[in-house]
Amino acid sequence: MTESEVSRALGSPIELRPGNDVKDDVAIYHVGDGRLTVYFYQEQLTRIVSSREPVNRQLIDRTSPLAGRQPMKNRAFTLVELLVVIAIISILAAILFPVFAQAREKARQTTCASNMCQMGMATRLYVQDYDEQFPQTKQTSANPAVDDADGSLEDPDFGSIFAMIRPYTGGGRATEDILRNQKLYACPSDPAPFDPLCQKQYNSEGPAVNSYLVNGYFVWGLSDAGVGRPADTIIYAERRSVVAGDTAQDPFCDDIYHPWFYPPTNSLAPANEMDEITGAIAARRHREGSVYTFADGHAGWKKFSQTFNPPSIDLHTPRL
Ligand SMILES: [Zn+2]
Repeated sequence: MTESEVSRALGSPIELRPGNDVKDDVAIYHVGDGRLTVYFYQEQLTRIVSSREPVNRQLIDRTSPLAGRQPMKNRAFTLVELLVVIAIISILAAILFPVFAQAREKARQTTCASNMCQMGMATRLYVQDYDEQFPQTKQTSANPAVDDADGSLEDPDFGSIFAMIRPYTGGGRATEDILRNQKLYACPSDPAPFDPLCQKQYNSEGPAVNSYLVNGYFVWGLSDAGVGRPADTIIYAERRSVVAGDTAQDPFCDDIYHPWFYPPTNSLAPANEMDEITGAIAARRHREGSVYTFADGHAGWKKFSQTFNPPSIDLHTPRL
């Protein structure tokens, strides 16, 4: 700020002390005894000028460009400026964080769909090898919908169906192969895919449970000929384990679910097994839906209501 600019700002002439030649440097001001003192910083020297006439403090504070002005090297952010920056950052974070979370969940869903597609392909290979018969874990072929009201009869005689298809997912008998395949049977969004709380009863070659369930209609030895619309018939679904916020606190400790338990016509039947929230299927694991494997080997994401809303919608009951 030059001498003339200071004079114009104050509305009155100032006088320089002898020997001063103020030119361009920014000044700070100080009002005392009705006089204005301006400090110029120039070449590391402090030079002082004073106004000749008494100065109105209020006039300077409100109207002078000098009011409130300080050298840049001492200037800090005001509270309002900081709050504005914080508010902008908060808004951006609020917009972006859910997007990031959705992207991560979408990636986990993709992994899960890959798992279930490989399980579907392994099942198709098994069917080809075994005279077009799906893996059968029961000796009898009696229809469970008729004679098994409480689910006890479908307890597997031949071990888990997941152990039967494991050789077709690249697994041998070596320990590392089993571990790798257990990873295949774990959904990344499942908090407890191999829940140790579930008893290991029938699956001697692996964990008691995994992230997935087999449709109970398939454990009785269905053949390809018994599934009229394989692309619209679910064979594998996702198993519900304990999740924070779940109304049901117990994990579903079975690798079979029972579509015929809807509606619960028998008092022995678990009333809620085919319920979207409390049932055996983790029907809302991925974005309000979950992944299903179909009898033709493909896998896809669906909302529960798109798979099961009897009598009009039922992709769980095989039909000729
Ligand atoms: Zn999943």
